[in-house]
Amino acid sequence: MSTDSNINNPQICINPARPGYGCQMSFDHKIDMGLYARCTFLSISDPGSDGFKKMLNFETAPFCKGCGAIVMFMAPGKEFCGSCEQKSTQSSATDAIKDLQAHRVASISN
Ligand SMILES: [Zn+2]
Ligand SMILES: [Zn+2]
Repeated sequence: MSTDSNINNPQICINPARPGYGCQMSFDHKIDMGLYARCTFLSISDPGSDGFKKMLNFETAPFCKGCGAIVMFMAPGKEFCGSCEQKSTQSSATDAIKDLQAHRVASISN
């Protein structure tokens, strides 16, 4: 696939106005053209700010590998947000309960 065809592919993290800018990662469930959430934030933030550093760190700002959304309380070992998980697996109610428990553990340990 050439870079030219990526320009029209909403799944790819690129800035159409600035070719070559963006991490070029591909997200199966990303539907908006342009940069994904992390790159959008980084592109508009002051590189010296705390928010920038936090967003740059994959541990403090985990993101969904499906749509690129930043999920601050992603359960350990998870790679997808709730809605992408449903889209890709039509997951059972059991998974949703596990998710809830993981969220509680995350908020208690903070
Ligand atoms: Zn990117
Ligand atoms: Zn997602």
